[in-house]
Amino acid sequence: MSPSAGIAGIAGRLESIQTRIAAACARAGRNPASVRLVAASKMQPLEALAAAYDAGLRRFGENRVQECVAKAPALPADVEWHLLGPLQTNKVKAALRLFTLLHAVDREKVAQALDDEARAQGRRLRALIEVNVGGEESKHGFPLDGLPETIAPLAALERLEIVGLMTIPPPAGSPELARADFGRLRALRDELDRRPEWAGRLVELSMGMSDDFEVAIEEGATYVRVGTLLFGTRPNL
Ligand SMILES: *Cc1c(COP(=O)(O)O)cnc(C)c1O
Repeated sequence: MSPSAGIAGIAGRLESIQTRIAAACARAGRNPASVRLVAASKMQPLEALAAAYDAGLRRFGENRVQECVAKAPALPADVEWHLLGPLQTNKVKAALRLFTLLHAVDREKVAQALDDEARAQGRRLRALIEVNVGGEESKHGFPLDGLPETIAPLAALERLEIVGLMTIPPPAGSPELARADFGRLRALRDELDRRPEWAGRLVELSMGMSDDFEVAIEEGATYVRVGTLLFGTRPNL
């Protein structure tokens, strides 16, 4: 598929993804408005993002702050930018300026730096805690073991509002195998919700990508992050 053919197909693929989201919601007895699509646009050219925008998409997720700094000015101001990848502490200022939601807060130090900077700017920022559900050494995210204790300090932050959990399960080979990991994240959220410091706060679950977003929705996802299925294969830049 040539890049331009890929871009020409974006509107049709967006429609098909939205149809599949609605069907997964129907199967799970969920309100389709409770599931939001984030277009994972890392490494995609601006023309691809512009085509998705023209097709009606307003929520884009980038993995690197610098890439988003470069792309954001080229798109209309009503785009909502999400950070899907982890953040370095030296990028907190830019992150506060750019993003509506951070999906992958994976260390207490980063959370604290964000809270400090938000206070200095008289602002607030919403974020999700990334959980390493698969226990893979190579992956970012807080380990499942002892998680309620590890993340307890994040509940006390006033300017960084933790509003949910996010995960990237290990490559499963099939969506049905990822289901257990998605269920684990939801169960963890329910467990945290019974603790006084988190009660009622962790409303968002960011889980599910191109290969498994329908299963993630059936397991409770409120954000699905879809890249390849919408844009086509990521170009090697
Ligand atoms: C790239 C990426 C996605 C999208 O993955 P696809 O398989 O292309 O849909 C979702 N979430 C994160 C964190 C990513 O880095």
